[in-house]
Amino acid sequence: MNDDEVLTVFRDTRALLEGHFELRSGLHSARYFQCAQALRDPAIAARLCDALAERARAELGEDAAFDGVIAPALGGIIVGYELARALRVPFIFAEKNSDGSLALRRFAIRAGERYLVAEDVVTRGGRVGETVRIVEENGAAAAAIAMLVDRSAGSVPFGRPAVSLLRMAPETFEPNACPLCAQGLPLAHPGS
Ligand SMILES: [Zn+2]
Repeated sequence: MNDDEVLTVFRDTRALLEGHFELRSGLHSARYFQCAQALRDPAIAARLCDALAERARAELGEDAAFDGVIAPALGGIIVGYELARALRVPFIFAEKNSDGSLALRRFAIRAGERYLVAEDVVTRGGRVGETVRIVEENGAAAAAIAMLVDRSAGSVPFGRPAVSLLRMAPETFEPNACPLCAQGLPLAHPGS
């Protein structure tokens, strides 16, 4: 899938909305992205993740050999599972502790294993970074990152190869400096 095809899927599934939105951060944006809208159709999820796996193989070459895929719950679970299917390896996930930090609560990672860390959308990379730390604390390698959408436009320093299906520059405005407000466009409040 090329970038236009990926964008078309996200628009057609209404995962990508265009207009004038107030984000949870309070900032305004011309785009709102909700990956779950694309992944709710299993056939589309499979198509997107097959394409992401293909891109990982193309960009990583021989380094695209993993013992497993790991993702942070909840957002990364579908992408991680579908990537693991495409790469024919097992899938595990890290999940939230009561204090909000991520932990491996029901799976074991063995020392020396190589993992691909999967996520749906990466903005600042915090959850991916936590997942990398969990893998490394178990003596294994978080060899690469794979994400459907890189909203940092490649600016997060992962310290290892990172593959995405789509890169989107964050396009946000302070409410008092928002060109969409200046045009008088009505403001939508998607999600919560
Ligand atoms: Zn605005």
